[in-house]
Parts: sequence; structure tokens; C-alpha cells
Amino acid sequence: MDRRIPSVRDDLAGVEPYVSPQRPAKYRMNVNESPYPPPEAVLDEAFAAVRAAEVNRYPVRDADDLHRAVAERLGRPPETVWVANGSNEVFQHLFLAFGGPGRRALVFEPTYSLHTLIPRITATEVTIRPRTNSYEIDLDAALDAIRAEKPDVVLICSPNNPTGNAEAPGTVRALCESAPGFVVVDEAYIEFAPAGASVLELLEEFPNLVVVRTFSKAWRIAGARLGYLSAHPDVVDGLRRVRLPYHLSAFTQALGVAALRYADDALKHVAAIVGERNRIASGLAARGIRAHPSDSNFVLFEVDDPAGVWNALLSRGVLVRNYSGARALERCLRVTAGLPEETDAFLSAIDEAVKP
Ligand code: PMP
Repeated sequence: MDRRIPSVRDDLAGVEPYVSPQRPAKYRMNVNESPYPPPEAVLDEAFAAVRAAEVNRYPVRDADDLHRAVAERLGRPPETVWVANGSNEVFQHLFLAFGGPGRRALVFEPTYSLHTLIPRITATEVTIRPRTNSYEIDLDAALDAIRAEKPDVVLICSPNNPTGNAEAPGTVRALCESAPGFVVVDEAYIEFAPAGASVLELLEEFPNLVVVRTFSKAWRIAGARLGYLSAHPDVVDGLRRVRLPYHLSAFTQALGVAALRYADDALKHVAAIVGERNRIASGLAARGIRAHPSDSNFVLFEVDDPAGVWNALLSRGVLVRNYSGARALERCLRVTAGLPEETDAFLSAIDEAVKP
């Protein structure tokens, strides 16, 4: 029997699956999660809600309580909020509804790799422009790119992963004023940034602005897979057309509602993590290692032999992320800030891994 497996779409031929190398390690400082489990009260309440929800039935289809709770947290009307399984799925919904064949996204690299992968898997064309040497968006060059490419979606990551820096809100404002389509700002790490870094309040002014956030980092429930956006209600209407029925499980909804109910407790480690981030940055600087300024929960740093240092850290139980295969990051590793003992382990492993 000679049956051939059909090939994937031609436009997926050059698309690599997302990988972030995982290895067993005592100190897992590679994917920007929180090392702190969520508060017990969040888990207790979520499990109780799942019991009460009768999981033999489908979950509440429009996740009304969760939308209301997110909206309340943001101080925005519920009809401006959309929740999905991680902010990655929020982006997928955005591109299914507003990207696709004949549409184009503009991305400033180096940045989060899913900002190019998700447009590509939804058959959206991607134009890539470089950031400056200090990894900011060059506003004049960005405005030129907008005039030349007329992108349907401009993607901005602020604070930017993996470089760590937040974009000036003034830059986002200027892009919103001149973009012919959406400006989407990914604020996955905003809770770790200084006050005033978010562009949430620009939503009132710009109906083409979309702000995306996640529960995976500061909120400590990456395993729940929960992310959201806030935008003009017409955007949310568009997203409703592409989501699958019952896309948020009863458990996902319950965890989100519980995390928001105990928000102060859920977020109480943010200041400590920012402290560890600063200790990592100053520890690297004291060792003569260039660390890029960070407004997030991780630090990007430069070494002469990133692959060698990555291995040497791993052999000492410290797993970080190696970015040396990416353009403009050839000397770079990224380390996630977490527990004080993780910082200690990282810095002493660095002393042995990086030869002066
Ligand atoms: N945006 C950025 C900038 C990220 O770094 C990540 C996680 N690495 C995400 C979005 C995805 O987060 P989620 O778990 O919400 O899908």
C-alpha cells in the first residue's frame, strides 16, 4: 500500500517549531517563570470551584466571571477584555481574526520569537526591522517602516523579551498615531517594570491599540495557561469569531478568578524578584560582565563564549537560556530572577564558568 502523508502548507515549510531547551537542573532560571507557587488560598478556592462547576458539563462558555474579574482589575469595561489560554493564544486569536493572507505584521527584533511565529502560522506576512544597539525601537526608522510597509499589525514587546528593556510610552503613542492598523503591546512582564511603563491608559485615546498581558509570570500560574488583552470592544467582537467553543476550561477559569481575588497575595513576591534581578545585574557588572538594563524578571548578559558558559553553568546545576543563535544576540545568555539562593548559585557558578 503506497499511501503518502500530505505535506504541510507550503508557507509553513520554513517555520521551525518553538523550542526552549529544557534540561534537568536544580536551578531552573531559563523560562521566566516564578519560582514561587501560587498562594494556597488560590489553589483551594480554584479546586472548590471546579468541584462545584460539575465538570461533566461544559464550562461557562464566555467565562463571564473571569472577564469581569480581569476588567475590574484593569479598571476597564468587561466588553474591552478578552481572555484565552495564555497570551500566546490571545495572539493566535488576534492573528486569526485580523491577520491572515494578504495582511502584514511589523516586528522589531530581537524580540519574543512568537511575535513572528504566530503571524507566520496564521499565514500573515511578517516584516522584521532591527532595534538599536541598546535594543530600543528607533522611532524614526519605525515610522519609515510603517509608511513603507503599511502593516496591519505593529507588534511591540514592553518590557522586551529577551532584552529586558521597556519601551517609552511616548514611542507607543507615536506609533499609534501613525499606524494604519493595530499597535499591539505585549506587557507580559509589566508587573516588574517601574510605574508609568504601561500603556494601558492610552487605550482610552487610541482605538487601534491592543494591550496583551499574562498570568504566567508575576501572577505565578504559568501552568494554568491564562492570558488576556484589553482593546476596543469591536476588537473583542472579532476575536469571538475565531475562538473554539468552550476554549477556557472550568479549571482555567477558576484559577484565574481565584488569583484575581487574592491579587495582593498572588503578586507579593514581585518586589523581591525585582530585588534579585537587580542583584544579578550588579553582580554581573561587578565581575566585568555586560548586563543589559532590565525592567523585567530576567537579565540579558554578554560573554565571549556563550555556548561554553551555558554548559559550564548547567554542569553546576544552573539552567539559563542561550540566545547566541539569534541575530544581534550572538554573545548573549538570559537568566531569570527568582529566589535569593538561585541568585547566589548563579553568581558563584558564573565565577567558575567565566574565566577573566
Ligand atoms: N509574551 C512574552 C513576551 C513572553 O515572554 C511570553 C512567555 N515566554 C509570553 C508572551 C507567553 O506567555 P503565556 O504563558 O501567557 O502564553
